[in-house]
Amino acid sequence: MSDSLWQFHEKAIVDDHKRQSLNGNADCLFYIPGVDCPHCGRSFGSTSQFAFNCPESILEEVRNVDRKTPCCNLEQWQEYVNRWKKAFPSEWKNLAIEPGTGFQPYQWAIRKIRETDLFWPGSTPIISERLQRVLLKNKVTGASLHQVVDKKANPLCYYNLLLLNDPRTDFWKKESLLVDHCEHCGYEQYRQVKGQQKGYNQLVRKGEIPRKYIPEYEMFTSHIFNGFIVTPRVYDLIKNLDFANCEVRELTVID
Ligand SMILES: [Zn+2]
Repeated sequence: MSDSLWQFHEKAIVDDHKRQSLNGNADCLFYIPGVDCPHCGRSFGSTSQFAFNCPESILEEVRNVDRKTPCCNLEQWQEYVNRWKKAFPSEWKNLAIEPGTGFQPYQWAIRKIRETDLFWPGSTPIISERLQRVLLKNKVTGASLHQVVDKKANPLCYYNLLLLNDPRTDFWKKESLLVDHCEHCGYEQYRQVKGQQKGYNQLVRKGEIPRKYIPEYEMFTSHIFNGFIVTPRVYDLIKNLDFANCEVRELTVID
């Protein structure tokens, strides 16, 4: 393991209008519904995304359910998910599914696309075809790339960059306190413990990442640092592309 890494994150733009015009907005085209739980009284849905397109055989039903009942009761939700799961790619059939998870494709609304290689339109970044090719050709690990579509659902030469690690589950939840949990719908609420955020802020200020938070991937997200982080090999492969929309900085790995 090398002793430095590189962080790419969105450049801070105060003017919301300017931010919009640079990055646009993106969201999944189809979703698993959220849940209205009769036991805890909560309605909720996550912001996570599946790394695959909504299967053709269930697309029509998913679309209709999403339009009519973006949140449904627990029994109905369970019925949809058990049935829809059968159509999922085999490696996804046995995974736990969170309410509100979105399918690919990611739909991008932007007025004018600038000549740059990385955009920050929503919960995950969008990259150019040029950057996508570099990542694929060099078999960079940790990234799952999915072609995005425009407002009319036509494919664009840009890709949704999904990072496969899950720092919220792997680290953040373990370091925080579970203060509420519903065994029926799976809702969990966490609170940070004393000093936790202060410690994170200090790492951000110093640009230091503890080795224990680094997964076995060359590209990954962090529960402390915004955007994503890459190894020196990936940095060398991509550093000459155009990252006008980003702040890029070197992080020091500490033990
Ligand atoms: Zn509940």
